[in-house]
Amino acid sequence: MKRIPNKIYLSEKETPKFWYNIAADLPNPPPPPLGKDGKPCPPEQLAALFPIELLKQEMSRERYIEIPKKVREAYMTYRPSPLNRAYRLEKALGTPARIYYKYEGNNPSGSHKLNTAIPQAYYNKAEGIKKLTTETGAGQWGTALAAACAMFGIEDVTYMVKASAQQKPYRKIIMETFGAQVHASPSDTTEFGRGVLAKDPGCRGSLGTAISEAVELALKSEKAHYSLGSVLNHVVLHQTVIGEEALLQFAKIDDYPDIVIACVGGGSNFGGLAFPFIGKTLREGVRTRYVAVEPSACPTLTRGKYAYDYGDMGGFTPALMQYTLGSGFIPSGIHAGGLRYHGASGLVSVLKHENRIEAVALSQTDVFGAAVKFAEIEGLLPAPESAHAICAAMSEALACKESGEAKTILFNLTGHGYFDLAAYDEYNKGNITDAAYSDEELKNGLASLPDFK
Ligand SMILES: *Cc1c(COP(=O)(O)O)cnc(C)c1O
Repeated sequence: MKRIPNKIYLSEKETPKFWYNIAADLPNPPPPPLGKDGKPCPPEQLAALFPIELLKQEMSRERYIEIPKKVREAYMTYRPSPLNRAYRLEKALGTPARIYYKYEGNNPSGSHKLNTAIPQAYYNKAEGIKKLTTETGAGQWGTALAAACAMFGIEDVTYMVKASAQQKPYRKIIMETFGAQVHASPSDTTEFGRGVLAKDPGCRGSLGTAISEAVELALKSEKAHYSLGSVLNHVVLHQTVIGEEALLQFAKIDDYPDIVIACVGGGSNFGGLAFPFIGKTLREGVRTRYVAVEPSACPTLTRGKYAYDYGDMGGFTPALMQYTLGSGFIPSGIHAGGLRYHGASGLVSVLKHENRIEAVALSQTDVFGAAVKFAEIEGLLPAPESAHAICAAMSEALACKESGEAKTILFNLTGHGYFDLAAYDEYNKGNITDAAYSDEELKNGLASLPDFK
């Protein structure tokens, strides 16, 4: 067999012109979002927050949705991302497995989130929107939206979880450099934020709190919309450009994954990489395993409940059917900030609920151990979020060593870790501990679920 190169490229001409919508192939797509009254959310209510084109994508059952030309041109500044063969890692692990990864950190935002920030800015601009509001946890989404808003000439106001704003001041500076206004959340710029601060002045915030603030501002401002970096169907749809590229790249080398692995925060990069492959499983019965990896400190898919829940703490967003730990969840300060969300994409959740995908939860110390090993061997410092996928991929590769099976493993390396150096510093000093999620916390979190039936 011909040697497979270290990097498998696509030319600009070969890049995907369509996103893949898994709702077309799902036997049971997720049920509709519900309003506070427990009835399906009227589209007008959502149109106050999102442009019509994105709402159409949210509800669409079309299998392929065309990527607009201007979006493809913007993608072209950093896509297609090569498919990497991790030869050095294979050798270091002594595994017969073939390990591949897509690296999504090679753009100004440093993560896959730019893949959806660009179309979101584009569709809002096309509808005459002048301002986008959003929240950001670790800062990757905020950076991506700031970069996309700069590209398309839209104002950007971002609520950054206070704990992260303190841990990662450089993220805030990049966003501001791209022209964004950044508030540490809870802030005194919204009624919701002021309410939280009145009760708990030292509150370090959560994504749930920041979302409530961003939604409140969007609803109160003229020609403003809200923008979400994960969870929603249209966000996951945009991310499928990753998996569509990977399908084409595997076709070039005549290989195909037996196992697809990605970390899950809200589920967008998992869906983005895995859905095009899962589509082939659903349509053609291709046998591939799909593994979603989450932190044991935020075990949404492995220990959460499949139920209707809000996206935010204030209950401003519609309720989605999803795996959730409860929207009142305030997670411990684990370093993979992008994986700290209480819920998960409805599409990823329904796949898990029907056992079409697997989920595993990993401890923080194991994840950082894998991250450092990967950095030493492959020469790339991953984001702690991405390291969850790396850690799981290494375990699968070691299982292949045990069994002697030469499986093909594909994982998503969602971003670089250059803004996570404080976390690496803690790890190097031996200060990283495992924040276990107790049954007590689980019970308390789930007590906040809305009761619709
Ligand atoms: C946000 C983020 C994630 C998790 O978000 P998903 O929506 O689950 O993909 C993972 N990795 C990085 C680098 C991120 O920025």
